[in-house]
Amino acid sequence: MFSNTAASWIKQFSLRVLDFFLPRLCLFCGGVVAESAAVAVCADCEGAIEWVESPVCPCCGLIFPVREGEDRLCGTCRTEPPPFARARAAVVYEGPAAKAVTRFKFGRQMAYLPVMQHWLQTPRCAELAADADLLIPVPLHPKRLRRRGFNQALLLAGAFPEAQVSLEALDRVRHTPPQVGLNPKERRDNVHKAFAAARPEEVQEKKVLLVDDLYTTGATVRECARVLRRAGAAQVEVLTVARVKHE
Ligand SMILES: [Zn+2]
Ligand SMILES: [Zn+2]
Repeated sequence: MFSNTAASWIKQFSLRVLDFFLPRLCLFCGGVVAESAAVAVCADCEGAIEWVESPVCPCCGLIFPVREGEDRLCGTCRTEPPPFARARAAVVYEGPAAKAVTRFKFGRQMAYLPVMQHWLQTPRCAELAADADLLIPVPLHPKRLRRRGFNQALLLAGAFPEAQVSLEALDRVRHTPPQVGLNPKERRDNVHKAFAAARPEEVQEKKVLLVDDLYTTGATVRECARVLRRAGAAQVEVLTVARVKHE
């Protein structure tokens, strides 16, 4: 019999030996990943990730194309404020981040989930989860859920194990074609009346955080937020892993 310390030392030693023979490989390029890296992303690919950084619109999170100046309200939020208070994303939808989002959602490659959860845990994103009473993953229509086999937004919300997550508060009541390839107006029309607050009592007076994988024009989360506010939510915010650079 080994003492606990010896057993733990042997386990650590075995893991190191395994690491030596079976180094972790980068999910994006197959290169070797440093032992100290939190997730399976090599230094080069880590360097290719574009983080969402100021200047952005403090309301809708728009990334200003001119990379100078302070955060400021964008023209749209000034004239037509969205039904949510803030929308934030961890990374720009380009390079490794775009690969992660699409391979996970459409390729069902679950290895990307811990990477994206790790991105969501950056302070400017985690702050929104800490501030919320309730996390609501953007729901899929049952038909799409059956076809895909999982709701990517629900799995991503697992980045915050302490948070309360509700899958039942919001329903997708209309099966809509994917938003890909539609212009902003078509996107708005496509999701119009697609959601319903199934359990208003769950969201009343609550600070709700909508969670999704990607923010493109914001049409989907705007519609969700509108429904939740109408059901009595005190505040709605939006958190996505990635965001397209310019709408
Ligand atoms: Zn790599
Ligand atoms: Zn804005």
